[in-house]
Amino acid sequence: MFNGRYGMDELGRFMLIVSAALMVLNIFVGIRALWVAAVILLILVYSRAFSRFYDKRRAENMKYLEMKSKFTSGKTGGAGGFSKPGSKPKNDGKRVLICPYCKEKLRVPVGAGKIKINCPHCHNQFEETV
Ligand SMILES: [Zn+2]
Repeated sequence: MFNGRYGMDELGRFMLIVSAALMVLNIFVGIRALWVAAVILLILVYSRAFSRFYDKRRAENMKYLEMKSKFTSGKTGGAGGFSKPGSKPKNDGKRVLICPYCKEKLRVPVGAGKIKINCPHCHNQFEETV
């Protein structure tokens, strides 16, 4: 019955699975929006399958496969791909020191040996080995 039509592809199968999952979830949690979303997805799946616009459907499928490969490669590549820039461990060549006078946090380079630190807050100087 898919003669001359686009038919099912990876994206279509994925949407079917999501749609089924939403319906099952709806049974358990009873949220009507889930059911509506599932039905909309199903309609999308079938309108894609019966579509005559091969190029558009193929482009959608390629986009989906690209996204999927990015997601899966990010997963296997370790947690590094998902960490935020701010949540890095403090091994970026800097170290946080506390000024003994005003207790202000100061970032100093690591590995410089004994250095004189000029606190920008209280303008006191102190020595520290880093
Ligand atoms: Zn200070």
